[in-house]
Amino acid sequence: MAAGVKVLERKKRTLAEASYVPEIAKGLGKTMGRFFKNTFGPEEKKEIATVCYPEEKREYPPRFRGIHRLTQRADGSPRCVACLCCSTACPAQCIHIEPAEYEPDDPRYGYERYPAKFIIDELRCIFCGYCVEACPCDAIRMDTGMHMPPSTERGHFLYGKEVLLNLPGRDGTYLSGNPRHEPGDPTHPGVTREQGH
Ligand code: SF4
Ligand code: SF4
Repeated sequence: MAAGVKVLERKKRTLAEASYVPEIAKGLGKTMGRFFKNTFGPEEKKEIATVCYPEEKREYPPRFRGIHRLTQRADGSPRCVACLCCSTACPAQCIHIEPAEYEPDDPRYGYERYPAKFIIDELRCIFCGYCVEACPCDAIRMDTGMHMPPSTERGHFLYGKEVLLNLPGRDGTYLSGNPRHEPGDPTHPGVTREQGH
């Protein structure tokens, strides 16, 4: 059976519509109205969606993943124990860590390591947050609320250990709210040296 075809009658344009002049004038009227309202009108009536970045900045939502920071212990040393979980979990392979041992007279010697080098290529990072999820020590966070400042130098996006340790969280602290049981203190839940073989 042939499909039914419905023929619609095309409305004829009026002379005014065919000339476009009144429609252009209407469009320009709207544009100019917005221009004067947003430029000279009272502040509360303005409808401007853009901001004059970087002088003006929008506040990011609390769950915004900003650039990374490395959290510090109470003595200022990194909480990171150079376990490499974050760099292993990182799908962009943009974390480079070189682990090192503490000195023999340090209570942490033999228990855990520290990162001699910790570099994140922030330009390669896809801000997935896997590194933060993978970290067993709450040593890496993405709660700075900042994004990278623009630069034309590729090297400026390689954030090293000192930079990452000195970026504060949104609350202004360099620490982490989670408790940290240091090796050697009585609250440390791990094995003691005496228990070793
Ligand atoms: S946020 Fe994702 S891509 Fe970026 S460093 Fe962490 S794991 Fe890698
Ligand atoms: S930041 Fe966390 S996951 Fe990454 S190496 Fe340090 S302790 Fe391990």
